[in-house]
Amino acid sequence: NMERAQQALARLVVDVSDFPQKGIVFKDITPLLADADGLAAVVSALADAGRDGGEVVVDKVVGMESRGFILGAPVAVELGTGFVPVRKAGKLPRATHTVAYDLEYGDATLEIHQDAVAPGERVLLIDDVLATGGTLAATRQLVEACGGDVVAVAMLMELTFLPGRGAVGNLPFTVLMTV
Ligand code: AMP
Repeated sequence: NMERAQQALARLVVDVSDFPQKGIVFKDITPLLADADGLAAVVSALADAGRDGGEVVVDKVVGMESRGFILGAPVAVELGTGFVPVRKAGKLPRATHTVAYDLEYGDATLEIHQDAVAPGERVLLIDDVLATGGTLAATRQLVEACGGDVVAVAMLMELTFLPGRGAVGNLPFTVLMTV
C-alpha cells in the first residue's frame, strides 16, 4: 500500500511556485486525483491509519475543507465509517462549534456541526498537506468540543520546514511524503 502510494505522490504531485502568493510552493494534488491508480493507492494508504492489526479502530473520519473531503470520504467508505466535514465559516447550516486560527497564507475560521461526532467516538483526521499545523490544531479542538477523541492523523505530505508536527503531538501520524 504505502510504497505504491509514495510512488504515485512522487510522480503526480506538481509543485507550483508563488501560488496563491509569492514565496509559497503550492503542492497541486489534482494530477494525482485524476489518476485512477494513484488515487486508489493514496486512499488505501491513508485508510491504513484507521486500522490496527487489520481491525478498524475508528468510528468517524473527519476531513478538512476542501482536499480533506476528497480524500476523507473514500477513506471512510473503505473503513466502513461515516465521514464528517470540517468547513470554512458560514457553510454549515445547523448549530456549529467554531475555531479561528492562522495559516501559512492568511487566516481562517473552521466549523463542525455540534452533533456530527458523538461523545466518545474515535476519530481519524484526514487532509492533504501538513504545513503550519494550524488547521490540524483547530480541527482537533472542534472534534474535542463535540466530545470526540482524535486517535490518529493521516496526510499525504508534510512540509518539514514548517512547525506543523507540533500540532500532531503524540498522536499516531501517518504521512506518505515529507518535503
Ligand atoms: P496548515 O494549517 O498551515 O497546516 O495548512 C494546512 C492546510 O493548508 C491544508 O488544508 C493544506 O491543504 C493547505 N496548504 C498549506 N500549505 C500548502 C502548500 N504549500 N501546498 C498545498 N496546500 C497547502
